[in-house]
Amino acid sequence: MRTIIVGGVAGGMSTATRLRRLDEFRRITVYERGAHVSFANCGLPYHVGGVIAERSSLLLQTPESLAARFALDVHVHAEVIGVDAAAQTVTVRDVRSGVESIEHYDELVLATGAGAEPGPSSGIIPTHTLRSVDDVDRVVDVLDQAGDTPRVVVVGAGFIGLEAVENLLQRGVSVTLITRGDQVLSPLDAEMAAPILAELRAAGADVRFGVTVTGACDGSVTLSDGGAVPADLVIEASGVRPDRRLADTAGVRIGPTGGIAVDGRHRTSVPKVWAVGDGVEKIDLLDRHPTLVTMAGLANRHGRAVADDIAGVEPDDAAPSLGTAILGIFGVTVGLVGWSERRLVAAGRPHRIVHTHPASHATYYPGAESMSMKLLIDPSTDRILGAQIVGGEGVDKRIDVIAVAMAAGLTASALSRLELAYAPQYGSAKDPVNMLGYVAENTATGTTRTLQWHELAAVQARGTTVVDVRSPTEYAAGAIPGAVNIPLDELRARHDELSSGPVVVHCQVGQRGHTAARILDQLGHDVRNLDGGYRTWAAGTAA
Ligand SMILES: Cc1cc2nc3c(=O)[nH]c(=O)nc-3n(C[C@H](O)[C@H](O)[C@H](O)COP(=O)(O)OP(=O)(O)OC[C@H]3O[C@@H](n4cnc5c(N)ncnc54)[C@H](O)[C@@H]3O)c2cc1C
Repeated sequence: MRTIIVGGVAGGMSTATRLRRLDEFRRITVYERGAHVSFANCGLPYHVGGVIAERSSLLLQTPESLAARFALDVHVHAEVIGVDAAAQTVTVRDVRSGVESIEHYDELVLATGAGAEPGPSSGIIPTHTLRSVDDVDRVVDVLDQAGDTPRVVVVGAGFIGLEAVENLLQRGVSVTLITRGDQVLSPLDAEMAAPILAELRAAGADVRFGVTVTGACDGSVTLSDGGAVPADLVIEASGVRPDRRLADTAGVRIGPTGGIAVDGRHRTSVPKVWAVGDGVEKIDLLDRHPTLVTMAGLANRHGRAVADDIAGVEPDDAAPSLGTAILGIFGVTVGLVGWSERRLVAAGRPHRIVHTHPASHATYYPGAESMSMKLLIDPSTDRILGAQIVGGEGVDKRIDVIAVAMAAGLTASALSRLELAYAPQYGSAKDPVNMLGYVAENTATGTTRTLQWHELAAVQARGTTVVDVRSPTEYAAGAIPGAVNIPLDELRARHDELSSGPVVVHCQVGQRGHTAARILDQLGHDVRNLDGGYRTWAAGTAA
C-alpha cells in the first residue's frame, strides 16, 4: 500500500508521521515543491527581526532525518502538477530539472496549504510574501543591500502583517503599514484593536488606512489615495486563500468559501483522496457553516485524524472550529476566540456584551499587568459566542480557558464557577475569567443593566444623565463630555441631586460603576452601568 502526501509542512507532515507510527509497513511518500519540509512558518517573521537568530532553527526536519526516524520517502523540489483520480496516479515534476514522473497511490492526501492573496504589483520595487524560508532569505537579502535605513511597505494589517512590522522595526527598518480596512487586526472589535494601533505608532510605524498599492514610480510605492511612499521592498501580507490548483485537477468539490470541501473525516468528494490544513474548509462552531481558519493547530490535529482514518483507527469526527488565535506585538498580547461583535452584528445574531479590565494577578503582588477582556454571549442560551483579550501577562491562559469553555458548551455564567489555580503571582482568588462570569451572570439576571460605549452618545442626546463615580482627580484627568462627577462614596448622600430620568453611571473600568448602579437601582433610579467604564469608552471613541 502506498500513501502519497502532497505538501510537507504542518498538515502533510503530521499525517505522514502519525501514519508511520500506526503502520510500520506502508510506503509513505511526501512531495514538497519548496526546498524545505517541516519548517517553522510561524517563526519566519522572527528571523527577519533577528529574534530567531539562526536560520537553521527554522528547519525542524530534513528529508534525511525524516527517512531515518520515520522511514518516510520525502522529496523536495517536487511539485505535484496533476491528479488522475480514476487511475489513482499523480504527475510529479522536479522543479529544478523539469523531469516528470507518474506515481501510483492507494491513498492521496492534499496538504497544499494556502497562498498569499495576489495584491496589485508595485512594479519595479521588489515584492515578497512571508510564507517560506526562501521568502525570508529574499527579504533579508533586499534589506541587507538597501543601506543604513531600509524602507519597507507592509501591505495588510492582519497577524502576519503586524508580526512583519514589529520585526522590521526591531531591525531598524523604516516601516509604512497600509491596509484597505479601517482598523488593524480586523477579527478584533474596534475598541479592542485601538491599543494595538497606539503601540504600532508609538514604535514608529506609519500606519495608513483605506488605501491599496496601485504601482511604483521613482523608488516609491504609489497608493490609491494619490500618495507615494519611498520603499526598497514591499511585503505582501494582505491575506491568504486556499491553494486549490491541485485539488481542481483531481476534480474534488470546492466549497462555498473557496476551500476544499471535506467531510467529518477529512475525506474529499473523490474516493481515496483526503485533504487537510489551510486549503480546506472547517465547520464553524457557532453557525455550523463552512469557514476558513488558517491556523497551525488545526492543520496538525486534522493531519493526525487523516492518518487515523487511513490506518483504520476510528478517528473522531472533526470538532467544529472556534478560530482560537493569539498574537504578541510590542509586548502586547492579543487573544481571541469565536465571533466578534462586528461579525455578530453583520449576521444579525443577538448578543450581549461584557467588558472588563482586570489585573493579571493580585495587585498587591509586584508586577501585575492590566488586561482588557470582552465576552460575547447569546442572550437566550447564555452560551459564549466569542472573546477577545488584549494585555500582557496572563492573556494566553485566559483565552485558552475560554476556548475550552466554548468547546465544552459552558455558559458564560458558568465561568464564575470554574475552579482555577490561584497564588498571588499567577492570578486572583477571583480570576479574571471568574470575574467575566460574575459580570455575565449579573447582566443575564438583570442584577445590573449595562450600556455599551457606542450606545452612550445616543442616550445622552435623549437626555440621559451620565454620572462619573470616579474620584475628582480621575475626573479631572479626562472625562466623558457632559458627565457629572459624584464619587461613589458620596452617591448615597447625593443621589437626590439626580433627576428622575434615566441615569448612566460609569467608573474607570466598570467595577465601581456596578456598585453605583446597584445603589441607585435600589434607591429607585432607572440606571445602567457603562460596560467597561471610561477605559472602554475612551478606546472605542478613539478608534
Ligand atoms: C509567517 C506566518 C506566521 C504564522 N504564524 C502562525 C501562528 O503563530 N499560529 C498559527 O496557528 N498559525 C500560524 N501560521 C499559519 C500556519 O503556519 C498554517 O496554518 C499551517 O502551516 C498550515 O499548514 P498546511 O499544511 O495546511 O500548509 P503549509 O504549512 O502552508 O504547507 C503547505 C505546503 O504544501 C506545498 N505545496 C503546495 N502545493 C504543492 C504541490 N502541488 N506540490 C508539492 N507541494 C505543494 C507548499 O509548498 C507548502 O510548503 C503562520 C503562517 C505564516 C506564513
